[in-house]
Amino acid sequence: MIYLDNAATTKPDINAINYAKGFLLEKYYNPSALYRNGIEVANSIKETKQNVLKFLGGVNFDVVFTSCGTESDNQAIFCAVKRGVFVTDKGEHSAVYKSFLELKNRGNTVLFADLNKDGSVNIDSLIDIIRNNKVDFVSIMHVNNETGAINDINAIARAIKSINKNIVFHSDGVQAYGKLSYKLSNDIDLYSISGHKINALKGTGALLINKRIKIAPFLIGGGQENGLRSGTENVFGIKVFDFASKNHYNNITENFNYVKKLKEKLISKLDKDLFYIISSKDSSPYILSVSAIGLKGEIVMHLLEEKGIIVGNGSACSSKSPFSRVIESCGLGKDILSGVIRISFSIDIKEEDIDLVADELNSTVKDLKRIIK
Ligand code: PLP
Repeated sequence: MIYLDNAATTKPDINAINYAKGFLLEKYYNPSALYRNGIEVANSIKETKQNVLKFLGGVNFDVVFTSCGTESDNQAIFCAVKRGVFVTDKGEHSAVYKSFLELKNRGNTVLFADLNKDGSVNIDSLIDIIRNNKVDFVSIMHVNNETGAINDINAIARAIKSINKNIVFHSDGVQAYGKLSYKLSNDIDLYSISGHKINALKGTGALLINKRIKIAPFLIGGGQENGLRSGTENVFGIKVFDFASKNHYNNITENFNYVKKLKEKLISKLDKDLFYIISSKDSSPYILSVSAIGLKGEIVMHLLEEKGIIVGNGSACSSKSPFSRVIESCGLGKDILSGVIRISFSIDIKEEDIDLVADELNSTVKDLKRIIK
């Protein structure tokens, strides 16, 4: 099987699991306990936080471990600003997008900036909103999970704050962490990351919080994580996350260049009469969004599955529209919208796998077109 849905989730790293196993079976103590064993575990969690901050250059940030990227996004969106005007863009993952719809249900004003054709946020549209409204909170994702488009969040945060320095700026970094080399600027207030996108476990995420920001807890209880996220810490998950993060950051440029080569190879081999390439040249090399023009992406996905190739299709459709909300917002035609396939890479994929994947993609789509005619 060739697994090409790594933007959805990745295979857990067995070395990370082995590294953390001691925290599951031996050092299982409560990190809030006052005896030595508990204190040691608490110190180990602190060490992981320091590592995360080191990778992201976040000297001005604190880290709160959460259960996933979705929880991190929710805490940022619901707990930093009580009421007001909230701005995001049309390309956000549901963890942000649907939270904004909920903000609206609760009586807040929510505004959505437009997208460019590749899924990146349209800066003119965003700045226009910021200039013409008394905005309290902005959330712009770092890497779009459907198209791989990269938003320059440091530049965006700077531009926004030069208009209104009181805006709280959040970014969903779930598809960027461990994959792109970057440092968070001090203009970023909140940043979400998730473990299972980088070969750690499902059920681990984190929210980085700029020290100047006051944020309320999302979970209330025993006061863990400096009162910001109650609940006994998932120590095993956090330590797997620690190892997986180190592994990714130690090889970040090498990995980036390798998957870039895979992506470019696949693009060059796809029959351009059959496929429209949605992802732009400067998108994250980990994500390639294409469309089998005029066909249904879901059907192509299932046909590939029968051949042992796993890809994603245009993200979860709602009952209102058969198309991906995000790709639809890129302003592409119906013929392209229906056929979206997301291919997302990892360093486990071999170069020769790409030859096979390209051949199967081309032949599957060609055959399907012939049958449909
Ligand atoms: N944000 C983005 C951009 C994502 O791609 C995802 C998952 O696909 C999430 C948030 C949600 O992360 P999690 O599955 O850890 O809740």
